[in-house]
Amino acid sequence: MVTFLAGGTGTPKLLDGLGPTFEASEVTVVGNTGDDVELGGHLVCPDLDTVLFHGGGVLDRERWWGVTEDTTETHDELHRLADECGLDSGPRYLSEEAQVSGREIARWRRFSGVAEFMEIGDRDRAVHLTRTGLLDEGHTLTEVTRTLADAFGVDVDLLPMSDDPVATIVYTDEGPMHFQEFWVHRRAEPRVEDVEFRGADDAEPTPEVREALSEPVVIGPSNPVTSIGPMLAVPGIEAALAESVVVAVSPFVEREVFSGPAAQLMDGVGLEPSTAGVAEAYPFADAFVLDEADGTRLDRPVVRTDTRIGGAADARRVLDAVHEALDLVAEPEGRTP
Ligand code: GDP
Repeated sequence: MVTFLAGGTGTPKLLDGLGPTFEASEVTVVGNTGDDVELGGHLVCPDLDTVLFHGGGVLDRERWWGVTEDTTETHDELHRLADECGLDSGPRYLSEEAQVSGREIARWRRFSGVAEFMEIGDRDRAVHLTRTGLLDEGHTLTEVTRTLADAFGVDVDLLPMSDDPVATIVYTDEGPMHFQEFWVHRRAEPRVEDVEFRGADDAEPTPEVREALSEPVVIGPSNPVTSIGPMLAVPGIEAALAESVVVAVSPFVEREVFSGPAAQLMDGVGLEPSTAGVAEAYPFADAFVLDEADGTRLDRPVVRTDTRIGGAADARRVLDAVHEALDLVAEPEGRTP
């Protein structure tokens, strides 16, 4: 068995290569939920949904979010109506009081549905409605995620990092904002000063996550601040990783990022935006997979390959390197797959 930690792009890309090196049925994926928002009363879990849609073969692979060829009739109508009503289309946070009332899992990231600031496709929306409906019926996010994963025919075991609320708040020169406002609405423009994982101190890893973390762990190419950071902020997760064999794939080639806001966010929290900074963020990692053009010298074992993942063949090559790295640091009793 092997466990992958996932944000919304790098690890899902890596999962394309499952089969020869790691069997999907032997894989657990723990997804970040710090990016989640409640929009118009419905819980949207972007990172879990990418793995869900990917596993179900319906992911929009151009964007790495949403359902391929989805329509946006409801979203478009919400914007038309808001225009008619003269209502702004920026992120519309609910009141401070509302942020801590209502459904507990949605704390500190509750937005009104007026002119929703994130594009939610029509089929995509059906997932959020079903998820929220099941949560309201009393199921945990772990249970609901498994139900949805079964419905989509996902072969891996997909788990949220916690059943408790954790909200990623980015502090910027323009004030604090939820990660999705920073990334989706502001395209990572404001200067990052700090990042808070609100609620993390009181959150717990689920028993399922604890068990998954006792297996060898692979951190696919991920944003160390806003995809892995929320997991590390949940008490017990970093300690569990320190006890397990962990291999991380760098999302950088030296100082060059493949995509997304990892560099700005790392800089903002005082980490060097580079492979070296990623290694510093993961003191518990036993080995790294770096790009063959990445000359960074690390204090831990490194396996190099071409880490650009454009399709299944690339993903298999990177997974072979991950396997090699796991073998290098395997414990004597042989806990690697
Ligand atoms: P998010 O949830 O979409 O913000 O992103 P993730 O946490 O999944 O992180 C994506 C990270 O993966 C970014 O920092 C990218 O630099 C990195 N990345 C994207 N594509 C590739 C790739 O093909 N190879 C490698 N090594 N990293 C990648």
